[in-house]
Amino acid sequence: MVDFQLTDCIETQKRLLALTYMLPGNFTIGSARKGHLTMVSRVIPVDTFDLVIFGGTGDLARRKILPSLFRRYCAGQVPDGSAIIGVARGEMDDMSYRQMVAEAVREYGGGRGCEDGTLDHFLERVAYQTVDALGDRGWPELAKRLTAAHIRNFYFSVGPSLFGALAKRLRKYGMTTPDCRVVVEKPFGRDLATARALNQTLAEHFEERQIYRIDHYLGKETVQNLMAIRFGNVLFEPLWNSQYVDHIQITVAESVGIGGRGEYYDDAGAMRDMVQNHLMQLVCLIAMEPPARFEPDAVRDEKLKVIRALGPVAHHHISRGQYGPGEDGTPDYRTAAGNPRSTTESYVALKAEVQNWRWAGTPFYLRTGKRLKARSSVINVVFKNLQHSIFGEEAGSHTNILSIRLQPNEGITLRVTIKEPGPGGMRLIDVPLDMTFAEALGAEAEDAPDAYERLIMDVIRGNQTLFMRGDEVEAAWAWTDPIIAAWEARGDVPKPYDSGSAGPGDAEQILARDRREWIGFTP
Ligand code: NAP
Repeated sequence: MVDFQLTDCIETQKRLLALTYMLPGNFTIGSARKGHLTMVSRVIPVDTFDLVIFGGTGDLARRKILPSLFRRYCAGQVPDGSAIIGVARGEMDDMSYRQMVAEAVREYGGGRGCEDGTLDHFLERVAYQTVDALGDRGWPELAKRLTAAHIRNFYFSVGPSLFGALAKRLRKYGMTTPDCRVVVEKPFGRDLATARALNQTLAEHFEERQIYRIDHYLGKETVQNLMAIRFGNVLFEPLWNSQYVDHIQITVAESVGIGGRGEYYDDAGAMRDMVQNHLMQLVCLIAMEPPARFEPDAVRDEKLKVIRALGPVAHHHISRGQYGPGEDGTPDYRTAAGNPRSTTESYVALKAEVQNWRWAGTPFYLRTGKRLKARSSVINVVFKNLQHSIFGEEAGSHTNILSIRLQPNEGITLRVTIKEPGPGGMRLIDVPLDMTFAEALGAEAEDAPDAYERLIMDVIRGNQTLFMRGDEVEAAWAWTDPIIAAWEARGDVPKPYDSGSAGPGDAEQILARDRREWIGFTP
């Protein structure tokens, strides 16, 4: 058996994620899942804070923000005296809001920590204030709820059209401080012009160091592991270039449709909703140069260089699709969107090129879509074949692939070539060297913070590394805009694809033209 020590990776994770792992065993090819790591979460203390959630009764607050705060409370990361204040126009007192928060925690919090009075203790920190972002109702009362000595965090969990009004009134009512932070949700604009306008609006009231633009993909464990793997190991970085990497595939596939988000989604489409932000961030983390230090601006400077190095995408390097009805009776895209003539794409695949010294000649194939055959987010780094095999042609051609799974089953697989066991000469086979975090790290992995937990606490800690800077967002739109503009100019209609399939057929062509093919959704 061949041993695979993960010590370097683990050491880096310790530093980056403040998690401690102890390695009692090795990982072995073909049976890596037998390896065991013991993980002990270490909670980084934060200063006492006030967190005001504008849109505190909305879907995002109920599904993500409030349950995440509760889990951090259970982990001991919410200091005594901190206050969480939900804000919306609806009339409600503190008690009714706490009841709503309790229901949200029970429904979306994963069922942990709700017993033995923990939830009641958490709720003592929760309050509600009726405020209209567009008027002056409720603002003086909200100001009175804040404590001068606390770090102030304002979470704009509302549509972007309210950002300006909120920022203006926060200042008018004396709630902003030099250290306060503001969190804004996606979508950050729908093109370069609107993103610029939003950046300008925020810049009138806050400095860039105070603005946290959330892309929850960046808070995922595996996404950060990408940096640990690349920059914490001597193993991969020497091969991480066009000399050794044949191409890269990034797939973010969903099996669900657009659900209740029809109106928003139909105005956005897969390009704006997924590629401009999530997939772009993944491209950045794969393609960026090592930053001098693991510090917010050093990391973001390198990501920005990647986005600016992206070349224009030719028409024939793009596939655009729209899902049809499901065999189980689920509606087609147009019905779900309530727009029978919609030309919005629910699927997009494209070939991108990072035009710099490291990546010239190594294509990045991206695809994302809804109602596909599996829910799967995975990055495949496909290495070049050996230039010469000493084992002869009969040994066949073998390819090393590093697969980084973001969901489901966050983890990493390295496909390596070994001798097929047994007699009968030198026959080669490819086997996965597999590290599934949930299995490798055991039950404690479940206690690792999820993306929103991590990102919210990063805001409170004042760490912007995992948030997008204004110039990054603008550069991403500057690359995306011409693609969308070309579709609009041509009157492009997306190709239909079957629900539950791999997407439209011409997505295969993008790779087939380069004598390549997509790797399955679940490597
Ligand atoms: P939502 O369910 O429609 O909730 C909107 C919230 O804003 C409600 O609490 C609403 O309460 C409040 N609100 C609306 N107008 C207001 C005003 N004038 N003054 C004060 N409060 C006001 O929206 P959501 O799904 O939570 O989304 C919030 C933001 O996050 C959006 O920008 C969305 O694009 C983004 N986002 C959402 C998700 C998600 O999964 N839901 C994911 C990513 C990003 P009242 O009506 O009582 O005022």
